[in-house]
Amino acid sequence: MTPTLRVCALYPELMNIYADRGNLQVLRARCAWRGLGFELRGSTLGDDLDPHAHDLFYIGGGQDRDQIAVAEDMVGTKRDGLHAAADRDAVILAVCGGYQLLGRSYQLGEQTIPGIGLIGLTTVREPGPRLIGNCAIESEIAGGSRVIAGFENHGGRTYLDSGERPLGRVLSGHGNNGRDGGEGVRRGNVVGTYLHGPLLPKNVWLADRLVEAALGVELQPLDDGLEEAAHRSARRAAGV
Ligand code: GLN
Repeated sequence: MTPTLRVCALYPELMNIYADRGNLQVLRARCAWRGLGFELRGSTLGDDLDPHAHDLFYIGGGQDRDQIAVAEDMVGTKRDGLHAAADRDAVILAVCGGYQLLGRSYQLGEQTIPGIGLIGLTTVREPGPRLIGNCAIESEIAGGSRVIAGFENHGGRTYLDSGERPLGRVLSGHGNNGRDGGEGVRRGNVVGTYLHGPLLPKNVWLADRLVEAALGVELQPLDDGLEEAAHRSARRAAGV
């Protein structure tokens, strides 16, 4: 039977800045071009979440005000499902605002926005400018070290607990907090990152690794001339 990648997009209408929805389009295309099935469901405010019904859970970035709307709902209706999904090694990909919500909390002045506590991290909106610009990191997620390139724009600074590992080491840009040289987080098949671009169109090799992890299959390479040009261009923009 042809495997089907079953994707659940969390809050697709609220958590989608910088065209983060493009990440879903890339996952769809990478599957279709290989004759794999692709199924996309959304889960938004008030919906619960079945950890067994999907292979890959995705949440994009959001403005602070959208995150506030999402956070309480996510803790109330999706926290347990997402913990169970991570326990059964489903892939969870979270970008920027979505990444921040994987942690314990996002401190925004007097306000504490709760996170689902899946990963040991906290985010704080400290005084100082937003961390904005092209960014490139070196990541071991595919075994050997590879570059992930994208664009970051966040006011929050994220700090990982000592037991957590970043997704990669910053080559150019700010990363989690502009100080410790780490960007994003990775624990098993849970991946958080500040990189938009959108992320996957600029780094299709990463999309393929995530599909492989989600389905437990090995994918054959595609003719990626255009995709590799997009990757090189994102790297050039970041000066790497
Ligand atoms: N609102 C969050 C911040 O500014 C996340 C922004 C984003 O998703 N780009 O830190």
